Amino acid sequence: MTAKIIDGKQVASKILEDVEKRVKTIKETPGLAIVLVGDNPASQIYVGFKEKRSKAIGFYCERYNLDKNTSQDDVLKLVNELNQNNKIHGMIVQLPLPEHIDENLIIDSILPHKDADGFTPVNLGNLVNDNNMLLPATARACLELIKSTGMKIKGKNAVIVGRSNIVGKPTALMLLQENATSTICHSKTKNLKEHTKNADILVVACGKANLITKDMVKKGAVVIDVGINKVNGKVVGDVDYENVKEVAGFITPVPGGVGPMTIAMLLDNTLKAMELHKRVRVL
Ligand code: NDP
Repeated sequence: MTAKIIDGKQVASKILEDVEKRVKTIKETPGLAIVLVGDNPASQIYVGFKEKRSKAIGFYCERYNLDKNTSQDDVLKLVNELNQNNKIHGMIVQLPLPEHIDENLIIDSILPHKDADGFTPVNLGNLVNDNNMLLPATARACLELIKSTGMKIKGKNAVIVGRSNIVGKPTALMLLQENATSTICHSKTKNLKEHTKNADILVVACGKANLITKDMVKKGAVVIDVGINKVNGKVVGDVDYENVKEVAGFITPVPGGVGPMTIAMLLDNTLKAMELHKRVRVL
C-alpha cells in the first residue's frame, strides 16, 4: 500500500480562495497585525508568509518587528494599542518570544475576539466548552486536512502525539468534538507504539525528527505530521515519511502539509474575528 499524499497547499489554496471571495463581498477590510520580537530565523520566515498571504487576499496587514531586547512592558503596550485599534481585527504575536518575556502574560493580554491564533485562555476555554469562537489555527489545519481525506471521524481512534496548548491539546479536543476517541501521548507516555499502532488518525506534533516509524503506524491510517525539524539543512517532520507512506492510507508531507494550512486557517480566523469585532461593538 502506498499512502495518498494530502496536499496541504492545494487544500489551503481552496480555503484562501473562499476567504478572498468573502472579503470581496464586505465593505470593511479585515486587518491583521503581526508582532515579531527578535530575530529567530524560522519565525521571520513564518511571519513573512503570513504577511504576504494576507495582503494577497486583500487584507490590511501591519507588521511590527521588535528588537530582541524589547522589554515585556513595551510588548504589552503594543498589544494594548492593537487591542484598541479599530483597523485591526485580528493579531498574532509570533512565538517563541525571547526568554525575558512571559509568553502567557502576553497572549493573555490579547482581547479574545482579536486572538487570530486562538491561543488565549478564553478561546481555549471556549473550545473545552464546545463553544467555538476562535480556534487555534494549527489544530484547525489538522482537522481540515483529516476531513479532506473523506474519512468519517466519528467513532475513530485518534492519537495525538504532543500535548502543547497550541497544537496537541486543542487538536485532541477538536477531534473529540467530532466524536473520535482522542488519546494524547507525550514524552512520559510508556510504550508509545502501543498507542500509535491503534490510531485510525495519527497527529504528530512533538518536534522530534522521524520519531514515528513505519512499525508504529496502523495500516490505512490518516497521518498528519505537524513537526518542523531541520536535519542536515533539510526541513523534515516528526514522521519517517518515506517509510510510513508505505503503510498509511493518507499522509501529509513536510513541508507542504500542515504549514500552508495553518496560514489559511489563521486568515480565516482573522475574517471571523472581524465578524466578532462587529458584534462586540454593538454590545
Ligand atoms: P512543544 O515543544 O510545545 O510540545 C512538544 C510536545 O511533544 C510535548 O507535549 C512533549 O511532551 C511531546 N514530546 C516530545 N518528545 C516526545 C517523545 N519522544 N515522545 C512523545 N512525545 C514527545 O511543541 P509544539 O506543540 O509547539 O510544536 C510541535 C512541533 O510542531 C514543532 O516541531 C513545531 O515546530 C511544529 N509546529 C508546526 C506548525 C505548523 O504550522 N506546521 C505550527 C506549530 C508548531 P511533554 O509535554 O511531556 O514535554
